[in-house]
Amino acid sequence: MEYPVSANARYTGLIQHYGDRLPIEDPASAVCLGEGRTPLIRTYNLPRRLGFEGEIYLKFEGVNPTGSFKDRGMTVAVTKAFDEGARAVVCASTGNTAASAAAYAARAGMQAFVIIPEGKIALGKLSQAMMHGAKVIQLRGNFDEAMAIVRVLVRDLPITLVNSINPNRLQGQKTAAFEVVEDLGRAPDYHAIPVGNAGNITAYWMGYKEYGYEGWCAPPVMVGFQSTGSAPIVEGRHIDQPDTVATAIRIGHPASWEGALDVQKESRGWFDAVTDEDILQAQRLLASTDGVFCEPASAASVAGIVSEIQAGHIPQGSNVVCTLTGHGLKDPDTAIRQSEQPFTVDATEAAVEEVIQGFL
Ligand SMILES: *Cc1c(COP(=O)(O)O)cnc(C)c1O
Repeated sequence: MEYPVSANARYTGLIQHYGDRLPIEDPASAVCLGEGRTPLIRTYNLPRRLGFEGEIYLKFEGVNPTGSFKDRGMTVAVTKAFDEGARAVVCASTGNTAASAAAYAARAGMQAFVIIPEGKIALGKLSQAMMHGAKVIQLRGNFDEAMAIVRVLVRDLPITLVNSINPNRLQGQKTAAFEVVEDLGRAPDYHAIPVGNAGNITAYWMGYKEYGYEGWCAPPVMVGFQSTGSAPIVEGRHIDQPDTVATAIRIGHPASWEGALDVQKESRGWFDAVTDEDILQAQRLLASTDGVFCEPASAASVAGIVSEIQAGHIPQGSNVVCTLTGHGLKDPDTAIRQSEQPFTVDATEAAVEEVIQGFL
């Protein structure tokens, strides 16, 4: 007998789902991996702990196919590159762009070249780029230097740049805002996002405005968070030696700075910085009290919201969405370093019980 194929099984990805809102002529040609449709998870312990009588939701982008929101932009950028006849893509990356570009290029039968800062990319991301067959070029330098190099490089080579200065990336990433509005039935009052190059906050704002103009919703106030060691937009100046445990936002020369300032003005939002300590604490808090494991950069949005609520900048009763940009498994080293270490015991019931009894 034949079983009916469910709508879930037929979902191929964002381009199929939002094709009429994306710059793709033939959605059937899409290079996709089922990205998007990520959960909007309501937290209960977090607001209770803060004494916050409002709603805090997590847009968990860590469950995209390669574990970060970069897949939303990459499906569009790689599909476009393929349609235009490109045979290779290149990006500078702090890790997640590399992992995503490598996967989508593999899917399309294209070569990916990824340029990363040596020693400053999380283990999970590096392993992905390597497994997907990207040529990995480690730079003795930081992300901003890698970015400056690829910008020039692509002028002379037959390679498509898939960093977020490629406008197709932001087109894909704006779909996350569509999903939030569809899930909530409205836009949130506040939307918090970690900021590196500021491409994602710019893309969300595009998405909210697109729905807003069509009468779907009043757009939210956008709030962007950087790490104090890497906060060019907050400080209003380039940072030449950015430093933070949140490697995905270790960026001192943001590529979409202007976009970020437009978002701030138009949404009446703001940017602020949070310390590495606060970032790691928020990461642990989410994982241990609400069951959601995100990478350090992602936790910047939650650390930021915690401090804004405590400072009274976000009023009681508000509805808040935090984007968790990437999965915690991306950076196992940082997770293990800050966690309680395992108990090692002899292989006897008594030894195991002794540990358990200590906590009952
Ligand atoms: C890329 C990335 C960011 C920063 O996004 P921008 O568009 O560069 O501002 C934040 N968190 C994670 C996990 C990322 O991969």
